[in-house]
Amino acid sequence: MVYCSTKWLPNGPFIVPKTAFYGDKTALKRTKMNLYEAISMSKRTGIYIHIPFCISKCAYCDFYSLPAGEGLMKRYHQALTRQLVEAAPSLDRYYVDSIYFGGGTPSYYGAARIVDLFNTLKDHYKVLLDAEVTMEVNPDSISDKDLRILRKAGVNRLSIGVQTADDALAKNLGRRHTFQHVTRVMERARKVGFQNISLDLIYGLPSQSKADWADTLNQIIALRPDHISCYGLRIEEGTPLHVFRDSPLIPSEDDQADMYLFMVEALKDVGYRQYEVSNFALPDRESRHNLKYWNREEYAGFGPSAHSYIGDIRYSYIKGIDEYLDALEGNGALLASRDEIPSSEQSVEYLMLGLRTTKGITGDEYHAIYQSSFAPIEALLFDYEKQGWAHRLNGRWSLTPQGFLLSNQLIRAILDARTEERITVGMPWKRSEHTAYIAQAGQK
Ligand code: SF4
Repeated sequence: MVYCSTKWLPNGPFIVPKTAFYGDKTALKRTKMNLYEAISMSKRTGIYIHIPFCISKCAYCDFYSLPAGEGLMKRYHQALTRQLVEAAPSLDRYYVDSIYFGGGTPSYYGAARIVDLFNTLKDHYKVLLDAEVTMEVNPDSISDKDLRILRKAGVNRLSIGVQTADDALAKNLGRRHTFQHVTRVMERARKVGFQNISLDLIYGLPSQSKADWADTLNQIIALRPDHISCYGLRIEEGTPLHVFRDSPLIPSEDDQADMYLFMVEALKDVGYRQYEVSNFALPDRESRHNLKYWNREEYAGFGPSAHSYIGDIRYSYIKGIDEYLDALEGNGALLASRDEIPSSEQSVEYLMLGLRTTKGITGDEYHAIYQSSFAPIEALLFDYEKQGWAHRLNGRWSLTPQGFLLSNQLIRAILDARTEERITVGMPWKRSEHTAYIAQAGQK
């Protein structure tokens, strides 16, 4: 097991303990024993910060974001900073190994405010020196100066919203940038030292042909980003694009499937490994933060509509900025939802989220965690294998790209098989529950 890593710090290369964090004066002097102790006692978490502001609304977007002036952003910043400080003691037992500034448009919020939030986290949380720190950026709202400020402060990963290399298609989506903006930001970001850059794309756009999509992929590949996220267009109710839902301008389902499979092959050919339905990375460039969502690891979100998973509890904050600010400033409820996840639900999450990834699922893990039979699930997976929708490698089952295209139906059938099994067997799921059940039964 590796406990240390070599890092280039301002005074030269040091062996940095994996638990060295900003603000810990003794971190670099820890003895090996202290280090082992710290590691065994430590838990890790990611922190997500939602910046709900955009210059304008894109035609397809149903995220919570709104245009804002300086006054509202200032008020938000003060309230959020206070909340981060107040919440710090409750997360004291965690080392923070990823931070994600998402939105909205964090680059519109401004580098200075992002750095200020990051400094608050460094001061009040155990943010590891080698934490992955990502900021979402729109190519039209980031200056060279901002890039320098962010990199200097320790932001080490950018996620740039590109969507398409075709300027006319981008304009139809309400995007404010051209592809020239994208190439410029990439070039400048590399120059100031960003070695981990992700580009976001969307396929299946109105009027987009397969040739258009191939052209976008070619242009993106030429920029050699470290990571690519690629989503099929979803036309959500309430968005301006919804009027196009039945339009012949929207590529057919078959065409969209072709675009997806073409992308998987094209990216594989040039060295990008698919590690989730929609995510591809060069070696060691998978998003540590996003992997937490799919691996059911803990994370704490801040900001309106932000979700968290801490302990066995999932909770989310209210969506409206006014309600959120009211709650932080003293009145009203902050939470929109709070669910303790029973072990039966955790097994659903294990299957649903695990089958989104190429790491996949195994019978041993499923059985060890949930004390339940994997047999009916595996029987279905064997069927899927015959159809070319799933495969097994070193004992792990995962969906193939063809299977990912049908993942909703395939996973639904697996969950139904699991429910059937549970009803048939009728046993409690975890050993602890089982012991409690027996103790209770003994008292009757
Ligand atoms: S920039 Fe992103 S969050 Fe803002 S409106 Fe466009 S898609 Fe939505």
